[in-house]
Amino acid sequence: MKNIYLDYAATTPLSEKAFEAMKPYFSDMFGNANSQHSFGRDGAKAVSEARQTIAQCIGAKASEIYFTSCGTEADNWAVKGVCAQLKDKGRHVVTSVIEHPAIYTTCKQLEKFGYEVTYLPVNEEGFVSPSDLDKAIREDTVLVSIMFANNEIGTIQPIRELCEVAHNHGVLFHTDAVQATGAIKYDVKELGVDLLSMSAHKFYGPKGMGALYVRNGMRIEKLLTGGEQERAHRGGTTNTAGAVGMATALKDAVDHIDENAKYVGGLRDRFVNQVLDKIDEIYYNGAKDSSKRLYNNANFSFRYIEGESILFSLDLAGICASSGSACSSGSLEPSRTLLSIGVPIGTAHGSIRFTFGKDNTVEDVDYTVEQLVATVEKLRAMSPLYKKK
Ligand SMILES: *Cc1c(COP(=O)(O)O)cnc(C)c1O
Repeated sequence: MKNIYLDYAATTPLSEKAFEAMKPYFSDMFGNANSQHSFGRDGAKAVSEARQTIAQCIGAKASEIYFTSCGTEADNWAVKGVCAQLKDKGRHVVTSVIEHPAIYTTCKQLEKFGYEVTYLPVNEEGFVSPSDLDKAIREDTVLVSIMFANNEIGTIQPIRELCEVAHNHGVLFHTDAVQATGAIKYDVKELGVDLLSMSAHKFYGPKGMGALYVRNGMRIEKLLTGGEQERAHRGGTTNTAGAVGMATALKDAVDHIDENAKYVGGLRDRFVNQVLDKIDEIYYNGAKDSSKRLYNNANFSFRYIEGESILFSLDLAGICASSGSACSSGSLEPSRTLLSIGVPIGTAHGSIRFTFGKDNTVEDVDYTVEQLVATVEKLRAMSPLYKKK
């Protein structure tokens, strides 16, 4: 029985390297990194090296990296931390309509607390327009938060340009770089962003580990109050093993970034070309220019059939893909992202995301195409809406 994983945007397996690096911190070196004895010092040294490594990978200084329990916490902290810090300046936030729930529902919650949020639209490929952002910023805007790369359709935003627009108005800029980190080369100083979120399990690191970049000189209110950890910015005993695993995985991803892009991107292109060639009445959702799209992402809408039925059938054939995103699966609502790029509601229901990774092979791709073609044919034969040409 085949077992092909095509859901790397939901999570990736922990790399062997990261796992090995983490192991000592689960056993002999279990000390609390904030304790003032040798066990604590071993932990503190490991965390400090991990922070340095992560900083170097994104062009930051170690003092600008704060560890968090996940990407979601980093996103919550960025948005709520800035809002609380700048509560006297205003109560308006600008974001986009295609953000991950970690930002989107955080903004919805802010609205309940009396904030106003502008959700910028995107065009049919999922891009936010810098001129729309320019028009949306007001006197009382405290933060702009726009994701680096979208988790469903892979579209990569012009972050540097968007950030510049925010700064021209004197407004802070945060980006959710959870999908971008480890996949796209970037330097926070070149981008100019004030805050940036990342998550280890999206780049072959451990689950339950994230980080927030906070530009030096910026002040941000705490999200987790507690002890003096993270230079008194985030309470909670440091996850030493997690920090080490995250740093090891990120360094590995950044060291091999071109190689991975070439290999995984090649698999994705082979897949997309075959699917478009062999299946009619489909849309390829997201950016058409592959330089502006995550190299591992393919997202299709198959007209006249249900995504859930396709997934079920693929699962029986040993293929694991996803409808929309893992975070919203289980809900019967069609994807907010797909509706925002203009996919009709019925068609949005027939959408599947395939995200490739380092462990996939050409054989996986060809087998998946074969199974997908057969599945779509079978389901359409049963669909009253589909008329064969
Ligand atoms: C996965 C993901 C998150 C959430 O990260 P967790 O570490 O799983 O909480 C946030 N934003 C984007 C774009 C993601 O893909």
